[in-house]
Amino acid sequence: MSTNSEPTPIGMVGCTTCHQVVECSAADVATFLSQGWPKCCNEVMTYYATSEKPHLPRWARQ
Ligand SMILES: [Zn+2]
Repeated sequence: MSTNSEPTPIGMVGCTTCHQVVECSAADVATFLSQGWPKCCNEVMTYYATSEKPHLPRWARQ
């Protein structure tokens, strides 16, 4: 195991209504799966794997 305490983002969740984007680590995704997927603006947020970043909609790119 690495001693690096910074979790590696494996993807992100985004809100298609307010365009908020939050990076998430594997631990975050595990939490989402066990406790419920995050919601924003009364909608379940959309998940994007990091490998799909080039295909993100324009609003999700910084
Ligand atoms: Zn929102």
